[in-house]
Amino acid sequence: MNRSPLKRRKSLREYSQAKMLREGRKGHQGLKAVPMEKRGGMFDRPRKALKKQSVARAKDMRLYYEEVRVWLNEPAHRACAICLCLGETPRASTEVHHSRGRIGRLLRYQPFWIPSCRPCREIPHNRPAWAREVGLLCPASEWNVFPR
Ligand SMILES: [Zn+2]
Repeated sequence: MNRSPLKRRKSLREYSQAKMLREGRKGHQGLKAVPMEKRGGMFDRPRKALKKQSVARAKDMRLYYEEVRVWLNEPAHRACAICLCLGETPRASTEVHHSRGRIGRLLRYQPFWIPSCRPCREIPHNRPAWAREVGLLCPASEWNVFPR
């Protein structure tokens, strides 16, 4: 059989430009500086994506993960406390359950940390009444509130 090689008639860029023309779009314009005289006011700056996380929080997270690694390795925190509350043979803990939330300073505040295995992670949040009964979850009014 005589086959001619497959060939693009246009480059990918030409395809996408033709598509944008059909749809009446001008294409990606990226960050565009607005001349000073055209700006509405001091808040009308060139658009920029919002930061996903503040620099301070990113630093906190770094310290947190390091502290978690050490904490989970301490003998008292090696077994999953949630497995124990369920009356099961505890699996090894691999994460921290925050019994009072993890906003702000609570993230790294160890008195409210509870060692948990991966499978138990969601249980206190799925069964809050039970979790409060056995002390895995704070009262609703204290959730995400740092103690005074
Ligand atoms: Zn567990």
